[in-house]
Amino acid sequence: MPNLLFRGLSHLTSACFLLFMTACAEAPAQSLVAAADNPSSPPNNQPEAVSEKLSFADWRTLLRSDAIAAGIDPALFDRAFAGVSPNPDVLLADSSQPEFTRPVWEYLDGAVSSQRVARGQSLLLQHGNTLERVENRYGVDRETLVAIWGLESNFGSNIGHHNVIRSLATLAYEGRRQVFWRSQLLAVLQILQHGDITPERLVGSWAGAMGQTQFMPTTYNEHAVDFDGDGRRDLWSSSADALASAAHYLQNSGWQKGQPWGFEVRLPQAFDYSLADPEVRRSLAEWTTLGVEPLNPPAQHLATETMATLLLPAGHRGPAFLLLSNFRSILKYNNSTSYALAIGLLSDGLRGGDGVRAAWPRGERQLGRSERIELQQLLLRNGLEPGPADGIIGANTRKAVRAFQLKLGWPADGYPTQELLVRLRTPL
Ligand code: CA
Repeated sequence: MPNLLFRGLSHLTSACFLLFMTACAEAPAQSLVAAADNPSSPPNNQPEAVSEKLSFADWRTLLRSDAIAAGIDPALFDRAFAGVSPNPDVLLADSSQPEFTRPVWEYLDGAVSSQRVARGQSLLLQHGNTLERVENRYGVDRETLVAIWGLESNFGSNIGHHNVIRSLATLAYEGRRQVFWRSQLLAVLQILQHGDITPERLVGSWAGAMGQTQFMPTTYNEHAVDFDGDGRRDLWSSSADALASAAHYLQNSGWQKGQPWGFEVRLPQAFDYSLADPEVRRSLAEWTTLGVEPLNPPAQHLATETMATLLLPAGHRGPAFLLLSNFRSILKYNNSTSYALAIGLLSDGLRGGDGVRAAWPRGERQLGRSERIELQQLLLRNGLEPGPADGIIGANTRKAVRAFQLKLGWPADGYPTQELLVRLRTPL
């Protein structure tokens, strides 16, 4: 699913990642990109103020008028809403804030397993003709597309079982971010009106991500394509439509044909870890001058002026990666650094790559949500500006962590650890 804020399972995440949910794959998410741009994730805004609460039936009547005004056939609306009532499980999932999330290496172990690589390689052969045509039309390589297919729906085998109308109606009626959900609900009615799918077959994740590539309805309307030529954009049962739609989405997200997502690198001794920040972009030539060396050089020739950012997903004790612009295109699909890294590494695995070479700091325990909140409170008490104490490690918190690490003379990687939290609890 492009975007992931909400799909069926909880995504994994390290201390620095927000947890989001996806229909079938777990992935942590980080707020780097406006969620509205993501195919499958809702924006992470504050709850909207709700005035006087209507009964569900009265609310549905108002929605029906708006839908009809927007061109939805009244009989189709009534068919889609037949027997629909709010689903308490969906509300529960929407408000869930898990205390513990998996570290990035555990997430990657599952996302880029040898079984998934083997299955993906077999599907690359099986769907070779279709994938070649999709590559030629959209300029996105087949391994990346199959990696997305694998993470979003386990290659089409797990597309979610929730009634999408019921899920979206529940969230639009009484969830958080009701305006967002209402727009998704109206969009899914347009998909029905367009004839892509019937109300009876309209299933998806609890949050309305649909089909083999888990598109949210507004993304679906904008980017889904009919690639097999039967006149319907059917991401549920046509893998050709699903793969081409993912390619179309990435193409529209600035995909650079022939470029890799990034590659693993080795850093020199005494490296300035503050350069590992999504806001710090340098050319490959500049990274080379700084002593950064490819560990897994990409097969493609890359111009030395190509811009890249440095990612340390588990801090300075773990692997390092240089990321090119296609990594940002993957983030537009699903705004989670761990997800995008999983797609990149899975695509490498599908090409026969050996995987990550440096060791992950598997002995380190991740900070839980309440510890991340405490960390933010303590950073604030130390005169730093980590942003709201919400347990989400975003750019401001990373910056504050770096500043405190510098004060201690520690490597300033901006990555919060148990060790740092313990140190923060002791006045300087
Ligand atoms: Ca089709």
